[in-house]
Amino acid sequence: MSHPLYPHLFAPLDLGFTTLKNRVLMGSMHTGLEEGKDGLEALARYFAERAKGGVGLMVTGGVAPNRQGWLSPFGAKMSNRSEAQKHRRVTDAVHAEDGKICLQILHAGRYGKHPFAVAPSALRAPISPIRPWTMSGRLVRATIQDFAASAALAREAGYDGVELMGSEGYLINEFIAPRTNKRTDAWGGSFENRIRFPLEIMRAVREKAGKDFIVIFRVSMLDLVEEGSTWDEVVALAKALEKAGANIINTGIGWHEARVPTIATLVPRGAYTWVTKKLMGEVSIPLITTNRINTPEKAEAILADGAADMVSMARPLLADPYFVKKAYERRPTEINTCIACNQACLDHVFAGKEASCLVNPQACRPMNVAPVITDRSLPVAVVGGGPAGMSCALELAQRGRRVVLFDASDTLGGQFNLAKRIPGKEEFHETLRYFRVMLDKHSVEIRLNTVATAELLLQEGYGQVVLSTGIKPRIPNIEGINHSKVVLYTDVLQGRVHVGEKVAVIGAGGIGFDVSVFLSEPVQEHADVAVYQEFWGIDTSYQNRGGITKPSPEKSPREIWLLQRSKGKIGDKLGKTTGWAHRLTLKARGVHMMGNVLYQRIDDAGLHLLIDGKEERLLPVDHVVICAGQEPMRALHEPLEAAGVPVYLIGGAREAGELDAQRAIREGLEVAMKLS
Ligand code: FAD
Ligand code: NAP
Ligand code: SF4
Repeated sequence: MSHPLYPHLFAPLDLGFTTLKNRVLMGSMHTGLEEGKDGLEALARYFAERAKGGVGLMVTGGVAPNRQGWLSPFGAKMSNRSEAQKHRRVTDAVHAEDGKICLQILHAGRYGKHPFAVAPSALRAPISPIRPWTMSGRLVRATIQDFAASAALAREAGYDGVELMGSEGYLINEFIAPRTNKRTDAWGGSFENRIRFPLEIMRAVREKAGKDFIVIFRVSMLDLVEEGSTWDEVVALAKALEKAGANIINTGIGWHEARVPTIATLVPRGAYTWVTKKLMGEVSIPLITTNRINTPEKAEAILADGAADMVSMARPLLADPYFVKKAYERRPTEINTCIACNQACLDHVFAGKEASCLVNPQACRPMNVAPVITDRSLPVAVVGGGPAGMSCALELAQRGRRVVLFDASDTLGGQFNLAKRIPGKEEFHETLRYFRVMLDKHSVEIRLNTVATAELLLQEGYGQVVLSTGIKPRIPNIEGINHSKVVLYTDVLQGRVHVGEKVAVIGAGGIGFDVSVFLSEPVQEHADVAVYQEFWGIDTSYQNRGGITKPSPEKSPREIWLLQRSKGKIGDKLGKTTGWAHRLTLKARGVHMMGNVLYQRIDDAGLHLLIDGKEERLLPVDHVVICAGQEPMRALHEPLEAAGVPVYLIGGAREAGELDAQRAIREGLEVAMKLS
């Protein structure tokens, strides 16, 4: 019988020798656990939880078939029996939960960050300092055998299959695209020669690993770089791969060096399913689509539309391991939705740290915080219903404590209610929905429109008080700061002031950037896929190699100056994987970005600056928006402590510097663990 809510999502997929229980693939994602001391133990726990959560098939992070294929020195590799044996832990744990898992075999090619990196041609990638070695014909043939040996070892280790990573600009993709393959031997030149490497790998893997073994091939269907593949080449490759023995084709979108954001939160949901849909019908094996699919509704709609046979979601299952189970049990509003921020997952991994998740700090590792409270008889007051307070109240309630959550405003969420208004940050609504639903489910008493005072809290007699009262915007000491032109970002985002046509933004941190995006937004339908495609120059007609064309961004309706005092790149502290896209967005809209400025004064004429310590300049602006950081709000701390009540500070109330939602949510959880 088909599922009443998501009939396509929960239709089994028969691969002939094995059946997947639903159409959800947990896509490959490097978590950094792979390289940890207890790596495989931690990975086993991580994947087993997702298997328990009901996902149809999972793919591990990339594992190299040999040393040259490492992503970084001593990265994960599968090239001998002893390495394979260690993976038994992972596969046994997954199978014990009735799950299925494939090992991804990834040869990093010229993206390898080590001196052994190799490529079809010795061309350095624009995002790498390393010039790779050219592979000799002999090494090419040996590498094909290494892929096959790796697949056979994966089988020995208990994996249900492998995924061959042929996209994102890694080695296989480098052979396919003329951009990186300048060879003149049998492995380069004509299209037939350039696809010889992937096809020989596919054949060798099938031969060594056997027929009853899942082989997914991830094809780069849209390179988004110059001299990438043409659409005809993508189709021809897919057909040849099917013939060579692939069971499933997964979609790869964009090389790592592409200057088009493909998974950040500013990318509309499902913005790339058109690519997979274009390939549907060209081959008879199942196709998987991917990128910015984060709800069961979206996944179902894609499948119902015939755009793919399966959907891949990686980060959404990091955010909520029980995504599939909750959808199956018709509890979709309880899903902790991935907001595509990249802050705790990809940004961590790029910085060489283990991945976590902004909305789920326990995504990769359980947090172990010892309880410190013995008297649990009285309720806990949590003052402030921002991310920190909501996370704390929910965890406390889930652990059986009685909780009262206060907020001065008429809605929960704190600053997330401002964040959600930024074009491209609509996903923040989902976190607010999640907390609302879960706090209600776990019977947290919520008191809105209530400013909690020390008197009120003392009168009501709480056992412990958690202060999550957040922050207030910092007002910098600039001459003329009280001028009527000066407004705070909070007023602007709440629509309390109407901002004029010429605007200066003081402070180029995350909020300064967001406010500039908000004020420079030229169109209303920012979540529209077509607008996004035009802005970034995505060639949906696929007339050009790589599927890119000249971007045609709309300019800002206002003239905006985004300013910072410090020298160097504007917005240097923004996330590694998203900051560049924010900068490109503002640049394309014509926002002026200036660093090394000194704010001299604000008067009727505008904002007076001293640039680079020498050049005086007047910006003739109608408004100056202050985004100069924050200060903590914790006025209740002292009186409560003086009255002998145990008080715990979290989020902005504890420390406003370097505050983000990741820290706020994590601290909420930590304190809840202490108190229960
Ligand atoms: P807050 O969110 O400030 O919440 C404090 C709450 O306490 C408020 O609801 C307030 O009404 C309530 N309160 C205060 N005093 C009392 C009282 N006496 N009684 C009752 N209630 C009280 N972070 C990210 O990590 N990533 C982002 O992309 C991001 N984007 C942002 C975009 C914008 C435009 C803004 C403004 C912020 C953004 N942030 C982002 C920052 C993030 O929202 C904050 O770090 C986070 O909200 C801090 O959480 P908090 O719970 O400590 O405080
Ligand atoms: P922030 O990142 O600390 O930036 C504050 C900005 O104000 C800086 O550019 C700083 O740079 C400037 N500034 C500080 N003191 C000043 C003063 N006295 N006078 C003039 N300028 C001053 O803080 P934020 O932008 O308010 O963001 C708050 C938090 O929310 C951040 O921690 C951030 O991580 C998070 N957030 C994240 C995102 C995201 O997309 N990831 C988006 C929004 C917010 P100079 O000193 O060089 O001028
Ligand atoms: Fe999604 Fe952000 Fe969590 Fe990464 S950190 S999984 S992008 S919510």
